[in-house]
Amino acid sequence: MTTAIGVVMTERIVTGRLEDRKIAGELLRYPEDPEAQEALASMPPSELVETIAGQIDALMRATPGAQPDAIGVSVPGIVRGGVVEESPNLPQTKGMRLAADLAKALESRGITAPVYAGNDADAIAAGVASTRGRLDKLTRVWTIGKGIGYGRWPYAEGVWEGGHITVTLDPKEKYCGCGGLGHLEGIMGDRAMRMRFLDLEPEEVFANAKKGDPRCREFVDLWHRALAGATASFIHLAGPGRFYFTGKNAGFLDLPLLRSHLETMVRMSPLQSFSLEILPPDDETALVGAGVSALRAMTEGKC
Ligand SMILES: [Zn+2]
Repeated sequence: MTTAIGVVMTERIVTGRLEDRKIAGELLRYPEDPEAQEALASMPPSELVETIAGQIDALMRATPGAQPDAIGVSVPGIVRGGVVEESPNLPQTKGMRLAADLAKALESRGITAPVYAGNDADAIAAGVASTRGRLDKLTRVWTIGKGIGYGRWPYAEGVWEGGHITVTLDPKEKYCGCGGLGHLEGIMGDRAMRMRFLDLEPEEVFANAKKGDPRCREFVDLWHRALAGATASFIHLAGPGRFYFTGKNAGFLDLPLLRSHLETMVRMSPLQSFSLEILPPDDETALVGAGVSALRAMTEGKC
């Protein structure tokens, strides 16, 4: 039996134990109050590491004497070689040697296990692949929320900032938080939508489009075309296959509309066997994926 610990750090820290790649026992959430969403944003990096270590320690106390085979932590942003290179939503973690620092904090608590740090969207892709018994297949996930994330399983060396892929050459498309022109997130991201519609919240834009408001309808079509364009690019690079959509704004997605735009963009017949699916929102998939990614990295000697 393999035991892994999965940790997901987004607005909250969720920690859980996996036995043979399945969740065993209760998940721990920090902060426990779901309303306290800003708690992590103001926490210094050393405190974040101590908090995660404390959560893992608490979990392991429930099974005295056991040691995990591997520990996986997933965070939003660019994570390479155990180091958080960029994390727009948790800016204080930029440059953090997350894997090494956490391993050290755990060691002082008597827990020794290889620690693997990865991107949160990659963790969702790993979690979907694992729970559906498709660990041998390419799985891709778009996370549609505050920002736009792109995740893939199996892990492949690279940056994979799919949310910042260029989907338009229109110089007026400048709403991406990174400052780049024509980016997917500059159309689909929350902040970008607020900057475009200064008077409307994203929910109102989609609601107004349903009621027939021409400006909102036009934008909702652009929102879908942008996602279709980015997805088509990945199909042209890595091939067709399964794409999953998740995140707080995935509910805005109209899959038939997305598919109809994709069909205008992907015309080569060997590439047309793609499938699209919306995942129900949960934090367990990413947690499973964090643990599964750590186990895979361990067997490959990467953590
Ligand atoms: Zn960008």
